[in-house]
Amino acid sequence: MAVSTDLKEYQNLIGGELRAATGGALTDSIDPSTGKAWARVPKSSKEDAVTAIEAAQKAFPAWKALSAGERAACLRDAAEIIASNGGELAGLETQDNGWVIRETSYGLIPVLQQVWLDAAGKASEANRGQTVPMSPTSLGYTLREPYGVVVGITPWNAPLFTFSIKAAYALAAGNTVVIKPSEQSAVSSLHLANLLKDVFPEGVLNVICGPGSEIGDTLVEHPAVDKVSLTGSGGTATSIARATAGKPKPMILELGGKSANILFEDANIEKAVEAISSYSIFTGNSGQLCVGSSRLLVHRSIIDQVADGIKNYLQNPELKQFGPTMDPATTTGPIANKSQYESIRSYIQLGLDEGAELVYGGRSGGSELIPDRSDLADGYWIEPTLLKTESNTLRVCQEEIFGPVSVMIPFDTEEEAIALANGTEFGLAAGVWTKDLSRAHRMVASLEAGNVWVNTYARVGVDLPFGGVKSSGFGTDSIEDYSREKACVIEL
Ligand code: NAD
Repeated sequence: MAVSTDLKEYQNLIGGELRAATGGALTDSIDPSTGKAWARVPKSSKEDAVTAIEAAQKAFPAWKALSAGERAACLRDAAEIIASNGGELAGLETQDNGWVIRETSYGLIPVLQQVWLDAAGKASEANRGQTVPMSPTSLGYTLREPYGVVVGITPWNAPLFTFSIKAAYALAAGNTVVIKPSEQSAVSSLHLANLLKDVFPEGVLNVICGPGSEIGDTLVEHPAVDKVSLTGSGGTATSIARATAGKPKPMILELGGKSANILFEDANIEKAVEAISSYSIFTGNSGQLCVGSSRLLVHRSIIDQVADGIKNYLQNPELKQFGPTMDPATTTGPIANKSQYESIRSYIQLGLDEGAELVYGGRSGGSELIPDRSDLADGYWIEPTLLKTESNTLRVCQEEIFGPVSVMIPFDTEEEAIALANGTEFGLAAGVWTKDLSRAHRMVASLEAGNVWVNTYARVGVDLPFGGVKSSGFGTDSIEDYSREKACVIEL
């Protein structure tokens, strides 16, 4: 990618120092609302990756030896720094990946603070074991220990959140960490690294930016790396599994989804429509949400009413507004990068070619969607798009599109709804809208998904596990998964 001059340059954090990539290599970071370069981030080499891992390896024994209380104090300091720099962090995240400022500033920063504080509170749990009396003369007990060096690899859609859930819980458990943000949207993570530089002893937290295709293998297969946590696509998970096949290592995989939002005939349609149109798929970051409800399974008797409700919501300029991402009035941002923009556009066309009906949307491009803003003409804008089909086998019903596109499919019976919902390779999330409590419980038990929401959607919390099943991954970014158990028996 071309490199522009006169743009702010960011650096890696390695071994407690801010460092440029070897040879000063840089990549332009693009503001997706304008399509223009706005900052430059390091294009790190394999050599930089090894330096970061060795820094984390060197720092591990001393960090592990601290008490849980001492580690927790550092995490609480991190939470405070994030809160006091919240406006700046939210602005960088918005400019770098297009998630509108009204959501990053009011929603994201308090969540980040909560994650770091929660991890601080759980630091002592990470080392707590059990006693297991085995016989009158032998005592068994378990110790919980950190793994060592954890590599956390994050995606472009939620850089600060995924950085935080990986780093905070891994550090709380006594691991040292190397975070590799997506090269597409690394600015907010590199800035956070800078803010946290003096919070942790040198080498405990390292952040290195570079293309996954070039430095990914080095990061995951290095013998000093003890655990890998990826939030990203299934393709990347496969590459990591191949790279580590010779010496498999424990992993946490938070991958994609094709989540079904299921509306029964007794659903509160008004509430369900609001959820679909604002926070479950047609979101402030244009549906680039792993749990996005990209399939709407709707009882045949209400499908027209639901479609009309969504259309009315999306057409209402007081509720849905494209515009500059830093303007608090803007509700809907662009797609985070050009390749994802092109991919979503081709999926919309593919759906139409496959015979799906266009219920709403389908247009793209700044000049088409925001004609009065020439500065946004080259941005990656896509209209919220609703398709409809009778067949769950279309590729747009089976493959993750990761954008503002949802496909409506009618059903007639509860059994059919379950079969449709479970009829993809994914298992990240599902929503159920019904007033029938028994049916709600039956559905929760029958759906193959790591997260199920009833009469709401996309609700997550620090005290609930978050992860997927089937091809949506395994493990969770949690205190439990960043520590391991050792068994001991003492003959008395
Ligand atoms: P991606 O898989 O393309 O990239 C994710 C990260 O992996 C980036 O940092 C990238 O540089 C790195 N990477 C790429 N190739 C690599 C390799 N060979 N070895 C090591 N690292 C490599 O994903 P993306 O396009 O950035 O993000 C979108 C995907 O993330 C979607 O599939 C989405 O569903 C998923 N996601 C999942 C969750 C979840 O919690 N389940 C949350 C957010 C996003």
